[in-house]
Amino acid sequence: MRILIVEDEVRLAATLGELLQRQGYTTAIRHDGLSGLDEALSGIYDLMILDVMLPEMDGFTLLQRLREADNPLPVLMLTAKSDLADRVRGLDSGADYYLTKPFASQELLACVRLLLRRGGSGRTDDTVSFGDLSLTPGTFSLSCGQRSVHLSRREYDLMEALIRSGAQILSKEQLLVRVWGYDSDAEDNNVEVYISFLRRKLTHLHSRVKIRTVRMVGYCLEVEE
Ligand code: CA
Repeated sequence: MRILIVEDEVRLAATLGELLQRQGYTTAIRHDGLSGLDEALSGIYDLMILDVMLPEMDGFTLLQRLREADNPLPVLMLTAKSDLADRVRGLDSGADYYLTKPFASQELLACVRLLLRRGGSGRTDDTVSFGDLSLTPGTFSLSCGQRSVHLSRREYDLMEALIRSGAQILSKEQLLVRVWGYDSDAEDNNVEVYISFLRRKLTHLHSRVKIRTVRMVGYCLEVEE
């Protein structure tokens, strides 16, 4: 489960990230509204925790833009504002839940669980595919024709990121954030190791899809003719 945190208070954002990571969630953090919206639109998250007062674009506007783009990503709004009018405005702009700062960690985690259970996420639970490959969420299996292999969680997340980007190149930094989370200690070398695991599995599957290394840039998928 991936959670996007859009919060300009750096320490609070980091604390939230750690709290959620300890529960096993993968997190990414953005400190302003514009890049938050950009990231939310990527479709790789299951939930967004969104502050209201943000530089570049406020949380209400961000949320409105997200919903205008027909993006159903569940949103938990987090704010110092406790006015009824603001709460109503937040819910009207399409927030799924509203939590007022300061809040207890347990309360936040309960809201997160609730919203994730409720689903309606921006990600589809459908199989994602590229070339002759398909990746099935619930079972963590990657298949090609009649053959299939089981992936570890990291391998799965990495493969999913690659498939969703397809021929578009992803840098190691982007993969680190998407797969290992924003403040993980993982390094480029971890990405390389997991890419090699996936390549071995693709060979085992006899897939025509290859993970191409674009020197100094990153990785992308391609279908071998
Ligand atoms: Ca703020």
